[in-house]
Amino acid sequence: MRAPAELVELFRENGKKVTPQRERIFHILHGNSGHPSAEAVFARLSAEMPTVSLKTVYQTLAELVEMGELQALDLGMGATRFDPNDRAHHHLLCTRCRRIEDVALELPDFQELLSHGAGFAVESVELTVRGICSRCQEEEAGHTPAESRSDQRQANHHARSRGGTDA
Ligand SMILES: [Zn+2]
Ligand SMILES: [Zn+2]
Repeated sequence: MRAPAELVELFRENGKKVTPQRERIFHILHGNSGHPSAEAVFARLSAEMPTVSLKTVYQTLAELVEMGELQALDLGMGATRFDPNDRAHHHLLCTRCRRIEDVALELPDFQELLSHGAGFAVESVELTVRGICSRCQEEEAGHTPAESRSDQRQANHHARSRGGTDA
């Protein structure tokens, strides 16, 4: 994703309005490696600008995706997550806390393996590696099972999954 100042220019050039809220969204997203959902962006923005609407956030994110500045990730975990990292990378997805980490890794052999026999010219490969992050593993080792179980229940409760396929 481009720098916030460049995005302001780009939006104006494309005849889109640039409000202070939108500009703030650019800043929240720029260099953000947390893969936030629209709701997470909204939560952060509304803490600074209480009058902002979730609709503004959705609309701005959608426009950034449309312009190729932002990637929308649907990793089957409920809410769509947004990724400003435009370099080729893969994702480590924690199935417990839903944290997503970037991994930049060239996989030339893997590309060849995937295209093998099919005469398919691979342009890009994006892997999603599912598992338990180191933080969750530590928590599990250090906490009583009862405590982590109630944490988990709470996390599931708060996650507004559209698919409802959890557990
Ligand atoms: Zn985790
Ligand atoms: Zn990413």
